[in-house]
Amino acid sequence: MKCVHCGKEAVAICRWCGRAVCTDHIKSMTYIISVYVGGKKVPKSLVVADAVWCGTCKPQPEPIEMPYLD
Ligand SMILES: [Zn+2]
Ligand SMILES: [Zn+2]
Repeated sequence: MKCVHCGKEAVAICRWCGRAVCTDHIKSMTYIISVYVGGKKVPKSLVVADAVWCGTCKPQPEPIEMPYLD
């Protein structure tokens, strides 16, 4: 398994796109597991801080709305 950036041996896999990254290119980002509406109708999200990110793909910071399907 090689890093997508430099070809070195990878140590982790991006949580979002599955690309492999080495220690030089590993990045982190907060990963949102799920969003729910808590008491008082305030949306809350369950997150993992410092999840592995490849630095290449573009995770959305928040869940995007899905258009209703007819
Ligand atoms: Zn690398
Ligand atoms: Zn990625």
